[in-house]
Amino acid sequence: MKRVFINGYGSIGSRIAQFISDDHDVEIAGVGKYSPDEKVAEALSRGFKVFVPKNKIDSFNNFRISGDIESVIGECDLVIDASPGGIGYLNKKNVYEPKKIRAIFQGGEKITGDKAVAQLLFNSRVNYEKAFDKQFVMQGSCNVTGMGRILQPLKEKYGSKIKRFDAILLRRWADLEDLKTEVKDSIEWTPSPHHDEDVKSYMGADTPLFIRVFKIPTRQMHVHVMDIRFNGATPNASEIIDLYKNEYGVATLYGVKGTKDIRDFAESVKFSFKDTNMIHIHADILQVQDDVVKLTYSDDQTGIVVPENHLLMQAMLFKRKRDDAFRHTEELFHMTEKKRLLEEHFKK
Ligand code: NAD
Repeated sequence: MKRVFINGYGSIGSRIAQFISDDHDVEIAGVGKYSPDEKVAEALSRGFKVFVPKNKIDSFNNFRISGDIESVIGECDLVIDASPGGIGYLNKKNVYEPKKIRAIFQGGEKITGDKAVAQLLFNSRVNYEKAFDKQFVMQGSCNVTGMGRILQPLKEKYGSKIKRFDAILLRRWADLEDLKTEVKDSIEWTPSPHHDEDVKSYMGADTPLFIRVFKIPTRQMHVHVMDIRFNGATPNASEIIDLYKNEYGVATLYGVKGTKDIRDFAESVKFSFKDTNMIHIHADILQVQDDVVKLTYSDDQTGIVVPENHLLMQAMLFKRKRDDAFRHTEELFHMTEKKRLLEEHFKK
């Protein structure tokens, strides 16, 4: 049985730990906690062993701690790092490389420059097999993951008939459960967003993609407003909708007034963590004008990368065939059923 350690138990780490604990092919050796807060009790109550940094053990006196992170990592086959953006790089240098351990990093890290954590940025729709023999792989961020689900089917069907993709990403300010971050009453912009480079790393450097990014005062998902310009013949709206009918992790919805409608529905039908784990095309505002398809979709920021981490874990640990890996992920995440429920509720 392969042993996996989840290093960092915040928004993403706690979700990954919870879902992967239902996977009987792996054993969760434990989760890494860095501050003695309420999340320690939560992890313990969910049955996880909690490990902490050696130099901080004393501050966790009030909790039942199983040992130090540095030691347990040496006994694992894979670490899923879910630390805050940029810290994964330090973990790689200080712990994973010296211990020769394999690791998955999250989308707040970099894949180029001095602080790169990996050469490969994973997107299950595009480069699943490339992760097989890698020591380090980075899972794309939520926005970068969602874009692959939109761009790859378009590329496969229309190829060079597409002239360019111009996208505006409207990013949520903080996650639902992140009550420490104040949601500021302001719209901020990101001068050199990482998204272009990240998406092109798996879609190809010549992808004609141009992204602008704005952070908006909400906790309820991201929205991508994308203009797809064609050379000559341009598909109509129903052709675009058909293209995504059978795409894994893409739901096509009607009548949604805003992202909170989707979260509220997810909560009402008891999706774990109120996540849909997917992107949602808003079909009633899809427009085609002359040579431009104007597509808008929302992206479940916390949920979307969790099944992706599970797929990546299977690629790295088991080199499982892609179809088998998707089948197994489906057993844990029930994405097809979630998509069915969403599409049935938000129907034409
Ligand atoms: P978070 O702040 O909720 O959680 C990070 C956790 O890591 C915290 O519990 C923190 O105490 C812990 N930590 C501190 N130092 C650490 C260390 N040295 N090693 C390991 N863990 C440490 O952050 P998050 O939102 O879960 O984000 C984690 C990563 O996932 C980031 O790279 C982020 O960009 C990426 N990501 C986040 C989202 C999202 O919606 N929140 C979506 C996709 C990707």
